[in-house]
Amino acid sequence: MTRPYPTPRYTPSNSRYDTMEYRRLGRSGLKLPAISLGLWHNFGDDTPHELKRALCRAAFDNGITHFDLANNYGPPPGSAETAFGEILATDFAGYRDELIISSKAGYKQWDGPYGEFGSRKFMIASCDQSLKRMGLEYVDIFYSHRYDPETPLEETMGALDQIVRSGKALYAGISSYNSERSREAAAILKALGTPFVIHQPSYSMLNRWVERDGLLDTLDDVGAGSIAFTPLAQGLLTNKYLKGVPQDSRAAQGKSLDKDLLSDEAVKRLNGLNDIAAARGQSLAQMALAWVLRGGRVTSALIGASKVSQIEDCVGALGAAAFTDDELAAIDALCFEEGVNLWARSSEE
Ligand code: NAP
Repeated sequence: MTRPYPTPRYTPSNSRYDTMEYRRLGRSGLKLPAISLGLWHNFGDDTPHELKRALCRAAFDNGITHFDLANNYGPPPGSAETAFGEILATDFAGYRDELIISSKAGYKQWDGPYGEFGSRKFMIASCDQSLKRMGLEYVDIFYSHRYDPETPLEETMGALDQIVRSGKALYAGISSYNSERSREAAAILKALGTPFVIHQPSYSMLNRWVERDGLLDTLDDVGAGSIAFTPLAQGLLTNKYLKGVPQDSRAAQGKSLDKDLLSDEAVKRLNGLNDIAAARGQSLAQMALAWVLRGGRVTSALIGASKVSQIEDCVGALGAAAFTDDELAAIDALCFEEGVNLWARSSEE
């Protein structure tokens, strides 16, 4: 195949495993890096391929072995998996066994009654399409991306079981299911013999539904681990918006982060959080990640990035001092949640 761009040889850093922390996923045999990289944004056809390559290389060089995708990541939907497949075939060729690659099905991917949610029909077809786009025989983790209130949970979990049994995935996961549904899903999967090992909920200082729901206690009970998505609240919990909305930001580009969230009061509060981070010797992003990972209950924090420097900053969160009670209270006093959790519907069903 002739590639449309040059592919100079990439050799991963020899020190890639020196500083990253790897944490066991629940009571499974699998370990995940404390920080993982998601390809929801900045991996579609609107982003130069060279930048995608640079982000993946920087992540792997820093010990980030886990890359998270979904059928619909783009734009257009599917293009992130196609681009990542290209990187697997070039830069990452020969390193498949050092990587944990995940994908998901649940949100709308194609027209008609079989293009979304949790039927066996959709889950199996979507998984097959994802594997084809990435040029893989299997993904390491395959998720039900959201709870389907109309399909029996036995059918959705049965589809995950079938995907694992047929060798298309090694582990099964669920995303944005509440505690009650997670417990039911875990029982069904256990009975089928394909243990449920990972939950992917949204969680950050500005989005605490998992605490109110008791999800982490439930996951402890059933032996599953967790990977928290949008731990930086899509960039709110970074130095990006401390002086307003910069042009090179998700909020300015009209993507999934609504710039109306950045009221004068919100910006003041983010600056207050930044002051606490500075007193701890951290950037705000580093403090937000250390907060999500505190106490070891969340296995991995799943970040996104539009620049290599952001990945480098984020991995600097590791090895931070534990939070004092006063710091935690000061953080709580500044946080706000209104409008941050875009995925609430799935966990409320
Ligand atoms: P996030 O880490 O909360 O936000 C990432 C954004 O924050 C970056 O794109 C960048 O914004 C900014 N940023 C990151 N590091 C920074 C730093 N050190 N300094 C300054 N700014 C920084 O996460 P996300 O991208 O919203 O989501 C992460 C992943 O979670 C996704 O890729 C996907 O894999 C997963 N996810 C899953 C679901 C689900 O339903 N399961 C839903 C959403 C996301 P700019 O782009 O503006 O520069």
